[in-house]
Amino acid sequence: MSDTIETPDISVVIPVFNERANLRPLAARLTHALAQAGVSFEAIFVDDGSHDASMEELRALCAQEPRFRALSFSRNFGKEVAIAAGLDDARGRAAVIMDSDLQHPPEVIIKFVEKWREGYKNVYGQRADRTSDPKMRTIFTEVFYRLLAKFGDVSLPPGAGDFRLLDRQAVDALLSMRERARFNKGLYAWIGFKSIGVPFEVDARASGVSKFNFTRLVSFALDGLMSFSSIPLKVWTYVGLAISIFALGLAGYYWVRTMLFGVDTPGFPTLVVSIAFFSGVQLISLGVLGEYVARIFNEVKGRPLYLVAERVESDKQSGRAKE
Ligand code: UDP
Ligand code: MG
Repeated sequence: MSDTIETPDISVVIPVFNERANLRPLAARLTHALAQAGVSFEAIFVDDGSHDASMEELRALCAQEPRFRALSFSRNFGKEVAIAAGLDDARGRAAVIMDSDLQHPPEVIIKFVEKWREGYKNVYGQRADRTSDPKMRTIFTEVFYRLLAKFGDVSLPPGAGDFRLLDRQAVDALLSMRERARFNKGLYAWIGFKSIGVPFEVDARASGVSKFNFTRLVSFALDGLMSFSSIPLKVWTYVGLAISIFALGLAGYYWVRTMLFGVDTPGFPTLVVSIAFFSGVQLISLGVLGEYVARIFNEVKGRPLYLVAERVESDKQSGRAKE
């Protein structure tokens, strides 16, 4: 894209999945907060295949506000990909990523911008606690981040999520990574740059329910672990080694015992148990291998990250884009 006449300071990227009732209040608060921050902006709503009337609402909002535009995916591609699409489309000198359910208070952006002006390029919102989440989710989240901290290649700042400001340099770095199994939290940490946290209180979801049920969270966690750690692949070498040494020891033991006391046939239970145990271990390691191979397969296919079915923007913007 050619350098356009007005590059906005901030591009706000907002993934949307069935959030109709939240969009109008969000738009109002966002516009107000950005005016207070004293920056020029554009907002890119990425409709991630919603089945409610989110897109109608976005069309209406974009008709009223030329600084808004919306992309609509051909189906649900997931939040991580929706964020990538929004960043692809962003023209600003920096980008702010935020949820559309008002859990991320737009007013915090004012503090993000202050930090950005001080020279920070990766300014992340840091939630103080997880009291607004269900108890079980909090526990699983805790376990997952501990695992990632121990075995992962990146260290994630505690409480940091997608709500953040990224300088253009950081945005471009992020966009240079076209992996399909995206785990944004890992990517934000991986790119580095001068980073700082801004504490904020997570509000309750304004309307509707969380889109992340248990299965989705598990698959998200697997993506995170496997994209940022190869320990699950490597650990089998050591498990295999330990088991082999144990088996050798066992063989020695039986040999000595046979030499001293002769053969006593009944050995059926030990046999069955050990066969079952070792088959289990082998299947687990094969399964882990399979998880990685499946991910390699997905990347190798080289399919596009997402497909846009519709693009909504004011005439002024589309006229400019065609130049
Ligand atoms: N979202 C999305 N695609 C999805 C699921 C969620 O774009 O497949 C959006 C959703 O509309 C919201 C944000 O991602 O703006 C966070 O989702 P949600 O509030 O359901 O997650 P939680 O806050 O419970 O982590
Ligand atoms: Mg939410």
